[in-house]
Amino acid sequence: MPESFTGRGDPVGEGGLTASELLALDRRHVWHPYGPMPGREEPLLVESAAGVRLRLAEPVEGRRELVDGMSSWWSAIHGYNHPVLNAAATEQLGRMSHVMFGGLTHEPAVRLSRRLVDITPEGLEHVFLADSGSVSVEVALKMCLQYQRSRGRPRRQRLLTWRGGYHGDTWNPMSVCDPDGGMHGLWAGVLPRQVFADAPPSGFDAAVDPVYAAHLRELVARHADELAAVIVEPVVQGAGGMRFHSPAYLRVLREACDEHDVLLVLDEIATGFGRTGALFACGHAGIAPDVLCLGKALTGGYLTMAATLCTSRVAEGISRGEVPVLAHGPTFMGNPLAAAVADASLGLLLGQDWAAEVARVESGLRAGLEPVRALPGVRDVRVLGAVGVVQLDGPVDTAAAGRAAVREGVWLRPFRDTVYTMPPYVTGDEDVARICAGVRAAVAASVEATAATGTAAR
Ligand SMILES: *Cc1c(COP(=O)(O)O)cnc(C)c1O
Repeated sequence: MPESFTGRGDPVGEGGLTASELLALDRRHVWHPYGPMPGREEPLLVESAAGVRLRLAEPVEGRRELVDGMSSWWSAIHGYNHPVLNAAATEQLGRMSHVMFGGLTHEPAVRLSRRLVDITPEGLEHVFLADSGSVSVEVALKMCLQYQRSRGRPRRQRLLTWRGGYHGDTWNPMSVCDPDGGMHGLWAGVLPRQVFADAPPSGFDAAVDPVYAAHLRELVARHADELAAVIVEPVVQGAGGMRFHSPAYLRVLREACDEHDVLLVLDEIATGFGRTGALFACGHAGIAPDVLCLGKALTGGYLTMAATLCTSRVAEGISRGEVPVLAHGPTFMGNPLAAAVADASLGLLLGQDWAAEVARVESGLRAGLEPVRALPGVRDVRVLGAVGVVQLDGPVDTAAAGRAAVREGVWLRPFRDTVYTMPPYVTGDEDVARICAGVRAAVAASVEATAATGTAAR
């Protein structure tokens, strides 16, 4: 426990609990992402957030305010406590925060769906509003299997993906996550067995590797009889390791899918809404998927909502089948509050020169992170859009790295062998520079800590 949190401090909020009491209760009762119970790491207690800053209940490492380098898992693209999003939420709250979506509909869901159809690639006409990214992937996969079944190909039940991916934590998404280095290796043998291509060669600008392209084509052809769909993250593989690849491989997959009547699902939950410099990452490749998953930044980081879009071919295929309905309907499907905020968030994004803002953040990240390449222990530095990644030679000492970033006044959450940032698009130039200083400090601290404990090579 950091010293600043032990046994003192004024009550936080109206519950009358001090910061140290809250943290003790948290440790005893509250499960955190990807953690054990009781928790091992010490979370930071956040009191409020505004703009690009998180305000802590008490200082940690001498800092009460942290510049947010994570956008709350890549979702808060406009920053926190934004007046336009607050107004949308408050206004909708005055009408209704939720009604069921079976047999009822409402303006926020209709407006949002029409906007999503308008801004996504040509051909995606229909929208299923889900309540999280993982669920939107489940829905996408169910759509694909059901489409194939409806067309009289019930054997087409498997999926093809490439290694290094991440598609969520529920069952079927886990089956297409990276099977080796990923978080779900424990379940190999229990999960549905999918077809894995090698991970795409690294580098957004790298020349196309014809051997790899042939590998993709061959694998789709060989398994075509049993494949319902190919699912990949376009251009940036996020939680599987923050790797970038050439958009050309997406064109290869599109062609191979068309040739063998396999559906192409693109998971843009992380890359959508401008993050990579294109409004959707498939725009870099000039292709459109049959099914598209969106989430994370959809509501500007305010509420949980995701969307699965599909073409009329997919929808009609399903609707002509033996069971002509999509049997899926989350209780909070189409939640009006989330939909209203999502529509306002998209209005904010599209109402400005978002591409210029992302390009501005990109050049700040390039300037600030390129020098990190020279530090010992650094394998690679890469930047695309508002994504900046420093890859180390081995696993990051996440505790040491995180603490060093906090000391610089920056919130980062390194994982695996990367220290990375995906800041809000509204992050000013000085704050982008500060985030880069935080990344540099985190990298240096991790390398020092692993050298000290002799774990660097493991
Ligand atoms: C985060 C993420 C998901 C899962 O979304 P949740 O809302 O966390 O369920 C799926 N795919 C990609 C690419 C993601 O980045």
